[in-house]
Amino acid sequence: MHTHPRIAIIGAGPGGLTLARILHLAGIPATVFERDESPLARPQGGTLDLHEDSGLLALQRAGLDDAFQRIARYDDQGSRLLDMSGHLLFEEADTSAGNRPEVDRTALRDMLLASLPAQCVQWGRALRALKRRDDGCWHLDFAEGEAGPFDLVVGADGAWSCVRPLLSRYKPQYSGLTFIEFGIDDVDARHPALSRLVGRGKLGVEGGGKEIIAQRNGNAHIRGYAIFRVPSDWAAKRFDFALPASVRSALLEEFADYDDAITDLFRASNDLFVARPIHALPVGHCWTHRRGLTLLGDAAHVMSPFGGEGVNAAMRDAVELAASLAGEDDWGGAVATYETQMFERVIDAAQGSAEAAAVQMSHIGEALALEHLRQHSSNNSNVAA
Ligand SMILES: Cc1cc2nc3c(=O)[nH]c(=O)nc-3n(C[C@H](O)[C@H](O)[C@H](O)COP(=O)(O)OP(=O)(O)OC[C@H]3O[C@@H](n4cnc5c(N)ncnc54)[C@H](O)[C@@H]3O)c2cc1C
Repeated sequence: MHTHPRIAIIGAGPGGLTLARILHLAGIPATVFERDESPLARPQGGTLDLHEDSGLLALQRAGLDDAFQRIARYDDQGSRLLDMSGHLLFEEADTSAGNRPEVDRTALRDMLLASLPAQCVQWGRALRALKRRDDGCWHLDFAEGEAGPFDLVVGADGAWSCVRPLLSRYKPQYSGLTFIEFGIDDVDARHPALSRLVGRGKLGVEGGGKEIIAQRNGNAHIRGYAIFRVPSDWAAKRFDFALPASVRSALLEEFADYDDAITDLFRASNDLFVARPIHALPVGHCWTHRRGLTLLGDAAHVMSPFGGEGVNAAMRDAVELAASLAGEDDWGGAVATYETQMFERVIDAAQGSAEAAAVQMSHIGEALALEHLRQHSSNNSNVAA
């Protein structure tokens, strides 16, 4: 006779792994099923800033404060804003003053994985479907066969969740924005001017109905995005991603009215260009509770990345779901409570992200970006006239 629900977590992203870790500390076992063949199967993406009431809170509840200090980059919290001719509009002078430390996604995932028991994460397991048994439990259907039964399946499987259709008929909608991701390696040694341009944190340049964001990652890497407001199929027609040199040329054409010192970011880029169309679920997305199933993170509330809230919201969901499960004898009621509170909790972040996406690169985009930076800056910030 099992005392805790048998829990399957679909997806070893930051949300799923944080949940597995906090449950583990509470003595509640869970199995994570991840589509990637191994932790090294693909690059995990760029830098993230963790917030006190969500990402950092989750690490505290996960008992990983000390481990986090070894991978956190407190020195990279700077912000710079330029106009397209290279004129500095804003600069955060003290780049280590904030309380939102940066961390590379791969380092965050490695830390969470190292904190879990062996066999907790099953790699190379891409969920295809869920099957409900007569007794109300769930079987997981993988290409390699079935797993289960499980009392509770948590969809932590990101924006295109396989679990979500069992709870909600909503799908993420294209926001109108497409990011073309690029990267610069070894920037300090090989491109010192670009290293200074980006600074210790994030650079934003907006103008001419387009935008460039470039962020310092660990290991002297810069990850950047060229951002366009275009139809969802535009990038596939405009860029030939099989020919990186042609993508670089096309980006230089698109940003021909920007100062060369800025477009040098494209000239210095490595050959990995990736299109990332930005999708979001409706603000206020919710569903009717269904026993044995729930969602967290992007699966529940994917939003545009402009607020920098996505990972933070996913990790906070993990905190709350784990606390509910650990704190109530009736695990079904615990999940329902978690959902009701989560629907309410994420509304502000989702609304803010949606509004930010709507005004990006509009006639008021630059002014709003400047206002936002001024509001969130330390007292040491320099604001150029
Ligand atoms: C361009 C861009 C920039 C961003 N920048 C930031 C930022 O600066 N700050 C921030 O907070 N957020 C940012 N985000 C958002 C952030 O990436 C997400 O909010 C966050 O990763 C969500 O975490 P998650 O654990 O819910 O899902 P994910 O990180 O998407 O993890 C889901 C996991 O599930 C796995 N999976 C998917 N389907 C299946 C399946 N069928 N079976 C098994 N496993 C499956 C995936 O392989 C993945 O490992 C950005 C997003 C984008 C697109």
